Amino acid sequence: MSANNIPYKIYLNESELPKAWYNLRADMKNKPAPLLNPGTHAPMTAQELSGVFCEELVRQELDETTPYFPIPQEIQDFYKMYRPSPLVRAYCLEQKLQTPAKIYYKFEGNNTSGSHKLNSAIAQAYYAKQQGLKGVTTETGAGQWGTALSMACSYFDLDCKVYMVKVSYEQKPFRREVMRTYGASVTPSPSLETQVGRKILAEHPGTTGSLGCAISEAVEVATSTEGYRYVLGSVLNQVLLHQSIIGLETKAALDKYGIQPDMIIGCAGGGSNLGGLIAPFMGEKLRGEADYRIIAVEPASCPSFTRGKYAYDFCDTGMVCPLAKMYTLGSGFIPAPNHAGGLRYHGMSSTLSQLYADGLMEAVAVPQTEVFQAAETFARVEGILPAPESSHAIKVAIDEAIQCRETGEEKTIVFGLTGTGYFDLVAYEKFHNGEMSDYIPTDEDLQASFDKLPKF
Ligand SMILES: *Cc1c(COP(=O)(O)O)cnc(C)c1O
Repeated sequence: MSANNIPYKIYLNESELPKAWYNLRADMKNKPAPLLNPGTHAPMTAQELSGVFCEELVRQELDETTPYFPIPQEIQDFYKMYRPSPLVRAYCLEQKLQTPAKIYYKFEGNNTSGSHKLNSAIAQAYYAKQQGLKGVTTETGAGQWGTALSMACSYFDLDCKVYMVKVSYEQKPFRREVMRTYGASVTPSPSLETQVGRKILAEHPGTTGSLGCAISEAVEVATSTEGYRYVLGSVLNQVLLHQSIIGLETKAALDKYGIQPDMIIGCAGGGSNLGGLIAPFMGEKLRGEADYRIIAVEPASCPSFTRGKYAYDFCDTGMVCPLAKMYTLGSGFIPAPNHAGGLRYHGMSSTLSQLYADGLMEAVAVPQTEVFQAAETFARVEGILPAPESSHAIKVAIDEAIQCRETGEEKTIVFGLTGTGYFDLVAYEKFHNGEMSDYIPTDEDLQASFDKLPKF
């Protein structure tokens, strides 16, 4: 197809929209390692998991053979508000970089939560409602997940209790008000409402909280309150399954115009947007039908793939959650204050971890100031203020496009633009004032944390 028959932004018609999520694990020869019970070290059973998570979500979590899960009609109806998301040709960026590469990005920031997280929030809220629950609990750090879940819960008339890391609660009061607009209750964590919160406050009086601590509070409330379950916004297989909508739409849009990508790039925190974006492409790769370079981008301050250990570890700091085998920096690892809050998790999705261990994808770690330089370049020529997390993918897409300029190769690059950065302006301010740091952990820092990995 000639270039001028391809729209600048590719949308899909209703008949072209994906009607089922794709479960990448079905095509993996080496399946991701199972979650283990932290007490017995035996694989977690559906029954054990269903005390914490909704039943249907447990079924999705444990299913590694069914390739497609039909998307319930109610969820497809909700998608009409903000999907399909556009696949945009970054003409102005290509021009700016003077590159022969063709750059496309899939933009997930077109909803109030400002990120892709709404894709899994709406699915998890739907199954909670189906099960007849009263509500759900969760934690949020930077606030995107809490906002997305609040939106999804208000749509299905479910109660939503969000434990927000205290430092974010204080620094991002606007996020909190968005969540309250959607009817959620937002509690700074650690709080006096839970046993674990009271214990942590007694031991560390002025603590500003952490994600691990907020998870422990949200899990305690879910498991001790009738009609409630806990939901999580990343890392889990079920979240990757819901996020496959990103990749399925991307693939449908590319196929519609006969565009064959050479590489697919995404930022990786817990791995959900990347796992979703690459799902159908990785599926083709696993089945031997096509080949792509697939690149995960992580912060140099929290380098789980590039410097982590592939081992069983706790998913939370409170060590109450199941053990997962993943690339990890250790559940006690506290990354330096990095402004990409969504990429500060110590571990990585067990599905992506297995694919990385099998050499099916690459990973790159990038320092923060270079990420913000890329963010600024992008904002100036593409008109979108990107989230710091998303800007990790922008940084590597730009690097690859510059490489193409040097070699003269006309490669097609697709990257995931996961969200917008309107609540991250303090980070942009630090960058503009030249006050941004690039702390990279030393080998000794990491070793101290690896020494505390569970041994068995
Ligand atoms: C949460 C978040 C991420 C990282 O989470 P993943 O599960 O790795 O996708 C990336 N970008 C944005 C905008 C986010 O909110």
